[in-house]
Amino acid sequence: MILGSHVSFKSDQLLGSVKEAISYNANTFMFYTGAPQNTLRNPINDAYTKEAIKLMDENNIDINKVICHAPYIINLADYGVNDKYQFGINFLIQELKRIKALGVKYLVVHPGSSLKLDRNAALKAIGNAFKRALNEVSGVYILVETMAGKGSECGINLEEIKLIIDTCDSPYLKVCLDTCHLNDSGININEFDKYLDDFDQLIGIDKIGCVHLNDSKNELGAKKDRHENIGFGTIGFDALVNVLNNERLKDVPKILETPYLKIDDKTSVAPYKEEIAMLKSGKFNPNLFN
Ligand code: FE
Ligand code: FE
Ligand code: ZN
Repeated sequence: MILGSHVSFKSDQLLGSVKEAISYNANTFMFYTGAPQNTLRNPINDAYTKEAIKLMDENNIDINKVICHAPYIINLADYGVNDKYQFGINFLIQELKRIKALGVKYLVVHPGSSLKLDRNAALKAIGNAFKRALNEVSGVYILVETMAGKGSECGINLEEIKLIIDTCDSPYLKVCLDTCHLNDSGININEFDKYLDDFDQLIGIDKIGCVHLNDSKNELGAKKDRHENIGFGTIGFDALVNVLNNERLKDVPKILETPYLKIDDKTSVAPYKEEIAMLKSGKFNPNLFN
């Protein structure tokens, strides 16, 4: 079982991320190289990276399973809108170089929203953006994330993901499944094996590089994208445990992106240590956070 969560990346960079992951008893993790909402980034500090890698080795965290997530605001479907498309590609190239400097192999990227282009053109623009970025940096992967279908989001079903992949035409483009997004896009996670069959037939199951394991606040097909804590949402604990333990995805890292728990107006705490322990136990505890 390769299970971890989203963690922070602060002034001590990857070293702090690793320490946080260890505090949750995780054996992998996902981080952003800065704020998820902006593209301001600091240079990578190799001294912290070296210490982080040593700490991973000592704690059985395989860096080949560690995930980075690109910020939300780049929109690679924005082809022809000012210089935003080119900005997105340039940022992606810099981000791929940063993860390479960190020794991390996978970068999750949201496909974007088709604000101006029709869907097919938008999906091809996204595939071409990935191709151009991957041509510039070798040995690192982009994982395109499956989206819920909020607004004009692209990449919301297997056919759309396939068009992005076919356009990109690179072995370095793979897929990140998000269980909340899948649920909200209309995929029943209780029938996850059927989804994997379809995925395998259309795209190939070896293309799945990461799973975001989240419950959802919304009903099946709601097209919303609001994550819920594990077992407390509409997907439910058993369905999520089955995803976690699915034999066909046993080497794929599972990452929690569930919401922090609000203690009072100023404080909230990460739920990940408790959720990881509960998922490992395989038994739902409705009083987990009480
Ligand atoms: Fe995401
Ligand atoms: Fe996600
Ligand atoms: Zn989401």
